[in-house]
Amino acid sequence: MVKAVIVGAGMGGMSAAIALKQLGVDVEVYEQVTENKPVGAAISVWSNGVKCLNHLGLEKETAELGGIVDSMSYVDGFTGDTMCRFSMQPLIDEVGQRPYPIARAELQLMLMNAYGYDDIHFGKKMVAVHDGADRATVEFADGTTDSADIVIGADGAKSLTREYVLGGPVQRRYAGYVNFNGLVEVDENIGPATEWTTYVGDSRRVSVMPVAGNRFYFFFDVPMPEGVPFERGTAREVLADEFADWAPGVQTLIGKLDPATTNRVEILDLDPFDTWVKGRVAVLGDAAHNTTPDIGQGGCSAMEDAVALQFAFRDHPDDPFAALAAYQSARTERAGDLVLRARKRCDVTHGKDPEKTAAWYEELRGEDGTNIIRGIVGNIVGGPLT
Ligand code: FAD
Repeated sequence: MVKAVIVGAGMGGMSAAIALKQLGVDVEVYEQVTENKPVGAAISVWSNGVKCLNHLGLEKETAELGGIVDSMSYVDGFTGDTMCRFSMQPLIDEVGQRPYPIARAELQLMLMNAYGYDDIHFGKKMVAVHDGADRATVEFADGTTDSADIVIGADGAKSLTREYVLGGPVQRRYAGYVNFNGLVEVDENIGPATEWTTYVGDSRRVSVMPVAGNRFYFFFDVPMPEGVPFERGTAREVLADEFADWAPGVQTLIGKLDPATTNRVEILDLDPFDTWVKGRVAVLGDAAHNTTPDIGQGGCSAMEDAVALQFAFRDHPDDPFAALAAYQSARTERAGDLVLRARKRCDVTHGKDPEKTAAWYEELRGEDGTNIIRGIVGNIVGGPLT
């Protein structure tokens, strides 16, 4: 039986662990943190990601955790006037699956439980990985090691495995904005309970979308230089200042959010690259494709990697090299395309060229949903489950 070591118990690593375990691969998962405590409040799992979770046997659980998004709207951030509002149904009909925004901690826990929470080795920080003739080996900070036929580095955006596979460190790129995010109780003064509402203006974005349990996942995008100091717990003051002249719905959100649990993330990405495998060692998820969150596809793409990895081992059960080669060739173009699509969207949304951003606001005022849905469908299709 093939043995796989997976480094990183994020949504990519856990999806891969479930996917390989389904094939009968002997899997060991190592995670540096000591408990399930993901950074970030929620993610929107688009239909392609949901299809991957369904494929992993999690259809019922995913639907229970997901918020119901029946419509989408864009709102003028200053006046509060609706620029456009449209149903999600055409999207659902076209791709055959409803998307689900899901609280991150709950998504993680669902995946961990599906794999076997107690089988995850927490508190194990990988400090080195190397290949050998018969096995690849990982070394941990506590001095222990493990070896396997393959090592999957699902160790996130600052991946050490990526450094090994590419032969050196890479420079990630600051995308020009900071994202504040968290969860609040649904309040229809901010937006309808089953709508993804986005306020736009001044190259900024304020958004709410429902997750299960009568909560909104919210985020604020604020263009600013990299490295501006921030003290955790001060999000309300910072946002009240940044959005002082914005519409009442935004003020309600700022008043309701919990500053203690509001996250602040500087957004970076990485130019796509095509080498995901070196010998018996491969990267997966953000380690392989680090994107801005502007089309909500980073995590979905990680789930697609997991399914593609499963298909590769299904087709080459006794040949890890052939399987990893098949995995790489199935994924690099698709994942790189999503990174570049997100970067393009990011630039328009956040005022890289203010004229283009102003033109986008004008487009939104005349939008009936057709163009936006076409764009989202373009992101969704093309993965291993199409
Ligand atoms: P991670 O989730 O980063 O997990 C990596 C894991 O590896 C971590 O648990 C870490 O502790 C562990 N690790 C790292 N190094 C080591 C080591 N040396 N030893 C052991 N363990 C290690 N995606 C979407 O699909 N939809 C969205 O709406 C969306 N919104 C986003 C919003 C924001 C603000 C951001 C920043 C991202 C968003 N994403 C979204 C992207 C998504 O969060 C990532 O693509 C996803 O988390 C990648 O999963 P991963 O498992 O590859 O990496």
